[in-house]
Order: sequence, then C-alpha cells, then structure tokens
Amino acid sequence: MRYKIIYFLFIFMLIITQILGCGTESNFNNPRTYTHFCFDTVCTITIYSKKQKDESKTIDACFNLCDKYENLFNKHNQDSEIYKINSGTLNKAVSKKNISNNMIVSPETLGLIRQSLYYSKLSKGAFDITISPIVDLWDINDNPHIPQKNDILKALKYVDYNGIIIKNNTIRLSHKNQALDLGGIAKGYAADQIKNLLQDKKVISAIINFGGNIQTLGNNNDKDFNIGITKPFGENADDYSAKLKIKDMSVVTSGIYERYFKKNNKIYHHILNPQTGYPVENSLYSVTIISKNSIDGDALSTSAFVMGLSKGLSLINSLDNIYAVFITKDYKIHLSDGLSIDSDNVITIAK
Ligand code: AMP
Ligand code: MG
Repeated sequence: MRYKIIYFLFIFMLIITQILGCGTESNFNNPRTYTHFCFDTVCTITIYSKKQKDESKTIDACFNLCDKYENLFNKHNQDSEIYKINSGTLNKAVSKKNISNNMIVSPETLGLIRQSLYYSKLSKGAFDITISPIVDLWDINDNPHIPQKNDILKALKYVDYNGIIIKNNTIRLSHKNQALDLGGIAKGYAADQIKNLLQDKKVISAIINFGGNIQTLGNNNDKDFNIGITKPFGENADDYSAKLKIKDMSVVTSGIYERYFKKNNKIYHHILNPQTGYPVENSLYSVTIISKNSIDGDALSTSAFVMGLSKGLSLINSLDNIYAVFITKDYKIHLSDGLSIDSDNVITIAK
C-alpha cells in the first residue's frame, strides 16, 4: 500500500511539473530588444533568456546606468565631470599644499582615466585621451571640415597623456589648454557595467549593442552568438565581411567608414593620429577586437587602428585571450593568432 501511494505521488508530481512547465521548460524565449539613445548613438539591449517578471525594471536600471555614465564622461555635456575637468571648474581639492587645480573626481571617472592611461602606455601613445583639442578642431560630428594647419600644430602641443597627473582621488591637467576625450573607451566601459548589472539581475543571455560596440552575456540557447563584422563602405548596413561565432565575449570595431567626410575624393575620419593631428592614414579600413571585457576591446580597437596592421597585430598577439580581425583597404581579412576562418568567412576562436 505504502509503495502504491509513493508511486501515485510520483506520477502526480510528474503531471504537475509538466503542467507548470517546471524542470523541462527552456531557459530561452523569443528575444526582446530594448532601445535607448546615449553616447551619441543608439544603444540596444536584446535579452534572449526567459522573460522575468521585472524585465522592464531591469532594462530601466540598465538605461539609467547609461545615462549616469553619459553624465560623467560626455565632454559636451556641461554637467559632466569630464566637461568640468576640461574647463577646470570641477570641485577644487582643499589642500594645505595649495594644489588648487587638483580636482576631486568620482571613482568611476578616475578609474576610466587610469585605464585610458594604461592603454596609452601599452600602445606607446597611439591611444591618447588628451587628443581632445584635435577632435574639436576636426569636429567630425557637427561641423566636419579640414582645420588650418597652424591650428592643428598649436593644438598638438597639448596632446600628451603624461600631462594627466593623478594623485589619490584627484586629477590635474598640466596645462589649461589640455582636455580629455573619452570617446574611444567610454562605450566599452559602459557595456561591461551593463553586462554586470544584467548578471546581477539573473539574466543569463543577452547582447548589449552600443552602435556596433557589442558585449554578449552567456550564449544563445547553448549555441554561439553570430556577430557580423561590417563590410566597410558596403552598400547596405547589413553587408558583412565576415561573421564571428562567440559567446560571453565582446566584439568592438574601429573603422574609417563610421564617422567621416570626403573632400576632393579623400576620406577624413574620426580616428586621429596623436603624432600628426590628422586622421590616421594607413592600409586599414577597420580593426575588430574580440575580448572578454569591452573596455579592452574599445581601447584596443582604436589603438590597433592607429598603430596599423603590422604593429597593431604584434600588440594583439602579445596579449592573452584578446583577438583581432583587421580589414585592409583591399578588403583582405587578417587574423591575429588564435582565430580561424572558414570558406564562408565564419571566424571562430581556435580551441
Ligand atoms: P573609436 O570609434 O572607439 O575608435 O573611437 C574614436 C573616438 O575616440 C573619436 O571619435 C574620438 O572621440 C576619440 N579618438 C580619436 N582618436 C583617438 C586616439 N588616437 N586616441 C584616443 N581617442 C581617440
Ligand atoms: Mg575605441
């Protein structure tokens, strides 16, 4: 009798779990995409894993975080810390030594500036957030034009990351005309923080896309995500030169086709050479970095682009678990160590 009861209880539980969908139900639903405008671009979050009751709250929290970073790092926003650092108006540190121009900075901004300096050293100055006065001269976003050579030479004097002096939680720029531009690294940082937040909220599968700066969380129902590498100057926005199969990694591209203008058939783009003050001129159309953290991908894609194919490839090959796809102006694809490509141009990380 006792065994019969246990047997019936077992069958009953089995039926209940089937009805409630417990145990056997997939952790994945149809993907949902949410959109927000920040960092001068469209930011989307697509969640692939099962819809949670409070998904809209999670998304609100993510986009609020985007806005928070925008309000810290966007040098055009007069309330941002970077704007205030650049104009010397951030709260002054009170100090007995009268270091009146040492400004107290939030841990987030200071952390991002420290990371930027790390990449400046690693790239031997190819990546330099003090490029700001040169970025302003070219004004690629709002009023693209070729600046006067003299103005470029004057502004170049202030491009030197060694002029950023950090002491404890304060920052000082060595010259009043020095200024910071975090446009080459901030989106990567923000994408990582949003990924962390999604993870805290128990989301297991998502893609965060800051205008092509991609960070993936988990995988797509046990399969890799397919991420396209944009074909530079392709006819359609979804023309791809190659496809990447990855999971739980970031994919960031720096390319001359993203923000540029043409004059006398010459392309002037937004990735600038800190040595010359002019847009980088080399054999490259784009560099894509595959890495665990998007901040590394963002800083390194800009760095490697400035360094060019040969030096850029050497740099990436010297780093662990970071991979790169370079596309040259003849549309040839060059891979760093550890990547392989098949006849359909599908790129995977070699096991
Ligand atoms: P990305 O699209 O990530 O390669 O970053 C390009 C953006 O970073 C530009 O729009 C500028 O705001 C800034 N930038 C341009 N040249 C450099 C450079 N050599 N080092 C650091 N930031 C740069
Ligand atoms: Mg970048």
